[in-house]
Order: sequence, then structure tokens, then C-alpha cells
Amino acid sequence: MGTFCTVVKFENPQELKRLCHWGLIIALGVIAICSTMAMIDSVLWYWPLHTTGGSVNFIMLINWTVMILYNYFNAMFVGPGFVPLGWKPKNSQDSVYLQYCKVCQAYKAPRSHHCRKCNRCVMKMDHHCPWINNCCGDQNHASFTLFLLLAPLGCIHAAFIFVMTMYTQLYNRLSFGWNTVKIDMSAARRDPLPIIPFGLAAFAATLFALGLALGTTIAVGMLFFIQMKIILRNKTSIESWIEEKAKDRIQYYQLDDDFVFPYDMGSRWKNFKQVFTWSGVPEGDGLDWPVREDCHQYSLTIEQVKKKADKRVRSVRYKVIEDYSGTCCPLNRGIKTFFTSPRTEEPRIRLQKGEFILATRGVRYWLYGGKILDDSVLEGVSRIRGWFPRNCVEKCPCDAETDQAPEGEKKNR
Ligand SMILES: [Zn+2]
Ligand SMILES: [Zn+2]
Repeated sequence: MGTFCTVVKFENPQELKRLCHWGLIIALGVIAICSTMAMIDSVLWYWPLHTTGGSVNFIMLINWTVMILYNYFNAMFVGPGFVPLGWKPKNSQDSVYLQYCKVCQAYKAPRSHHCRKCNRCVMKMDHHCPWINNCCGDQNHASFTLFLLLAPLGCIHAAFIFVMTMYTQLYNRLSFGWNTVKIDMSAARRDPLPIIPFGLAAFAATLFALGLALGTTIAVGMLFFIQMKIILRNKTSIESWIEEKAKDRIQYYQLDDDFVFPYDMGSRWKNFKQVFTWSGVPEGDGLDWPVREDCHQYSLTIEQVKKKADKRVRSVRYKVIEDYSGTCCPLNRGIKTFFTSPRTEEPRIRLQKGEFILATRGVRYWLYGGKILDDSVLEGVSRIRGWFPRNCVEKCPCDAETDQAPEGEKKNR
């Protein structure tokens, strides 16, 4: 019940702003269309309310809708939980293992990441979800995942109603005239004639809702399996990416080292219980995490710090040779650049001739990196980072990537 109150009572009116967003409008639109059409089809044509089965079916449809909306709004308004502004580790010596967030003026607690959309450091961040216009993290991981489970189940029920409605209605129609026996058999448990005939508009609306329901089942169902796979290892999407990068780094430098993910509790059931609890509130405070016996409290953050240093070492300095306006798909940079614009929500950056850029990664025609503003390149408060076309820049002859000796990184375990 505690969680329900949080849904109703908004902690601050700003939260209502979350409601004005395209993701939310589309998600609620799909839920509204599928559940309304399923109810209309059941009551009018497929399974009337005065039969026991019909009533049970109708209650189940309402039940799906309520549970889906409950978990959806719970995930949205409870939110992921944010690291308190100005947070420091209890033991100040531990801060060497942590990264510092300049926006939040706080150390990044283990498993937390800064979200640019939420503009806060998010506890056990999984990803920023546009459909709930909020981050998925520690506090709402369970309700978010339940939503991913319930939405496809509700859609399968609705899709069943849609298919059966269309089938029975069209079947009645088609067989009418030359085989009266069949009509009697198929219409036996229904009213002799529905109050409103199943017309072309009803057929079109049902077909449309069926498309939405099947699409949602596949798309959201896949997300559910991906989520469950990582939850059973007590991971987040970001952490599986960090793990991948860690293995990458170990291989790149040929270290005889093995990265062990520190939060795996050893069994799927134990990992599951870390996220799903009866109270709906996850275990722990979102800042301290239980770790495996053979791991350090900060194993993962140490790896992140190493990765960041390594990224610096491996990044390449470029000089801007042509201006770029920062548009997503530039028309004047060649057709290949136009069509291969990275499909991400990450920003593009405006370039001016003569500027310097430190690129950390790239694809064939695009690079991702940050502008070099002054001496405090990587520590600068306002880092400007994003994608830009590769053909606007040229590699600097003097590679300035050597201020951190790669050798040091190699040996330092
Ligand atoms: Zn932050
Ligand atoms: Zn976010």
C-alpha cells in the first residue's frame, strides 16, 4: 500500500511535467486502444456479459488494464531513486575508487550513473526510458519489469479476443445463406443477433487493435526477456556493457586478469530477490551493495575508473578542417555521411575550423568525442561531447595522447 500512496500523492508538482511527453502519450494510447477494443468486442460480439465465462473474461480484461497501468505509473512516479546531492562515501579514503559528478557535486556511488535527461546521478541506473519519461533504476526496476511482463500478457489476451471476434463474426456472415445448420451451431451460445451489427468500421478498428497488440507483445516481450536475463545475474544494462568493456580492455592489454562481476549473489533466486520483494521496495539503500566474497566493495567502480583512464589513453586528437553546423543528417557532407548518421539520442556537436577534438570512438563516417577547450581538457566543467562527421576533421600529426603513458596502465593492476 505504501507504494500506492506514492503514486497518488506526488511529492512535488514538477513531477506532473513527466506526463507531457510523446513516449507517454504513445504508450497510454496503445494501452487505451487495446483494452477498450478488447472490452467492446467481448461485450458486443464475442462473449456477452450475461454468461459466466463472459463476466470472468471481462473482469480479467479490466484486471490486466489496472495492473499494467499501476506498474506503469509506479515505474514513472516512484522513479529510479537519485544519489543525494553532495554524497560522499562514509570512509573518505574510499573516494579514490569513485568518479566525481560535477553536476550533482557528489561522488558517483557504486552502480550509479549520471543521466543527462534526468540531470541527476541515478541509483543502480539501467537506462533512461522514454516510454516512462524517467530512468529505470534501483527503486523502479521491479515495477518496470513487471510492466514489461504484464503488457504482453494483456496484449495476448486482447489479441485472442480480436481474432475470435473477427473469426466468429465473419464466419457467421460468410456461411449465412447456404448452410443454416452451421449458423445455429456457431451462434448457439450467443444471442441470436447482436444489438449492434459487426460492421466494416468495427472490423477495421478490431484489425488495427490486433496489429497494435501483436506488435506490443513482440517488442515489449523481448524487452522483458532481456531484463530478466540481466536481473537473474543481478546486473543492469549498463553493467553488462561495463563488463564487456572490461573484458575488452583485459584482452587489449593482454593482462592475465579476469573480471569478476562483484554483485552476482551466486544463485539466480538470490539475484531475483535483490530486485523483487513483497513490499515492492528493493533490498538495501541504493548506495551500499552486497558483493561476492572474492570482490572488493568497489571492484566495479575501480574498473570504471581504469576504463576512463584507458579511454583517455586510447583517444585520438583531431583538428577541425571544416565547419559543421551540428545537424543530425547534414546534406553538405556527402551522401554516405548523410545516410550513416548514428542512430542514437546522443547529441551532435557544432564544429568550427581550427578547433581541436579528442575522439574516443567512431564509426566509418562519424566520430564521437569532446572538444578540447583549454588545458583542463578532461576535467573541464562544461564538456562538449557528441558526434560529428569524420570528413570535417583530420588527425593531428602530433598525437597528444601520450600524457598518460600506456605502459603505466598496462602494468598497473
Ligand atoms: Zn550526477
Ligand atoms: Zn534519466
